[in-house]
Amino acid sequence: MIDPREIRKDFPILEQQVNGRPLVYLDNAATTQKPRQVIEALVRYYETSNANIHRGIHTLAVRATEQYEAVRGKTAAFLSASHPEDIVFTRNTTEALNLVARAWGDANVHEGDEIVLTLMEHHSNIVPWQQLAQRTGALLRYAGITPEGKLDLDEVRGLIGPRTKVVSVTHMSNVLGTINAVAEIGEMARQAGALMVVDGAQSAPHLPVDVEALGCDFFAFSAHKMLGPTGVGVLWARRGLFETMEPFLGGGDMIALVRQDESTWADVPHKFEAGTPNIADVVAFGAALDYLQDLGMGAVRAHEMALTAYAMEQLSSIEGLTMHGPERADERGGVVSFAMNPAHPHDIATIADGHGVAIRAGHHCAQLLMRHLGVAATSRASFSIYNDKDDIEALAEALEHVNRVFG
Ligand code: PMP
Repeated sequence: MIDPREIRKDFPILEQQVNGRPLVYLDNAATTQKPRQVIEALVRYYETSNANIHRGIHTLAVRATEQYEAVRGKTAAFLSASHPEDIVFTRNTTEALNLVARAWGDANVHEGDEIVLTLMEHHSNIVPWQQLAQRTGALLRYAGITPEGKLDLDEVRGLIGPRTKVVSVTHMSNVLGTINAVAEIGEMARQAGALMVVDGAQSAPHLPVDVEALGCDFFAFSAHKMLGPTGVGVLWARRGLFETMEPFLGGGDMIALVRQDESTWADVPHKFEAGTPNIADVVAFGAALDYLQDLGMGAVRAHEMALTAYAMEQLSSIEGLTMHGPERADERGGVVSFAMNPAHPHDIATIADGHGVAIRAGHHCAQLLMRHLGVAATSRASFSIYNDKDDIEALAEALEHVNRVFG
């Protein structure tokens, strides 16, 4: 069982007041706060172990390499993946998805081939595929959303066919909170001979994830949304897939042999980690993974689901407020997007900030979804392990204030 009061003691940033009120941080889908353990791991690395990795012989270089590579192992374990070599560190989810679209897409997607996406994707799971389509002449196909805010699986099934080369879907919507049936969609993709890419930016931080059970080919996510530092992303690939791919970026650390006109590549995963990686932040990400593993992702999910149910109950009693996304908390992650017309989401977020409550307002990098919902923007509250019912009540109080201002 998660005790947010105990957990909060590990998060120094949450001790502050904002606008004269205790900070209530409900913008976790954008990025989470970092526990002391992660901050200390970062400082400790620089104070005791800093060196460049892989090529060094000296003690610090070996130590830094061991610490960096140990996190690859922890990341694999976190995803229930059997092989640490199937983990490539990137800058973020965005770079991981670009890596797939470039390094796999350029070699395997051709004119007339089809790429299946959904209308609830984040821009980082749209734009790299648009760029691939523009380079190759492939076509983009978008599956729609049901009135309840769920992915229309019949439409997904109808779109996947003999021309489909890749299906790329978010595991959990950053706006609607919808958890998608990615294993089922992956099976549809496999039967069509297509690859399944999962954008796990919102799921890895909040749900137990077993990439092998999901049956996907690629799984991408970001450390900063799961208590880790910014500047670290992860791309997992199904066994053997990275070996078939050409490198995304060229340079130091990713080569075996360099000649004047051509080079050969280092083994996977190093082939995809050109240049000096973000060593210190990867090491600190290891502390974030330990923190989540100690709590247990099942417990994280249970806590956030209960909080989401409570938030939906509280918000439903606020006059004029409408929520987007599935009605049941067990069908969604800890994200609640809503509207309070005629108040603009920016006004709502500004009033909430006056109460010390941090929520996000805008298109959430999901303009296709905004268009589908018929809105320019939404207000969004999103939860993490350190949030509790008091935080939801502070949000509800701020939203009552919005109603007083806007009548
Ligand atoms: N996909 C989803 C579903 C997201 O929520 C986000 C972050 N908002 C991203 C991708 C992109 O993550 P990053 O900015 O860390 O690359």
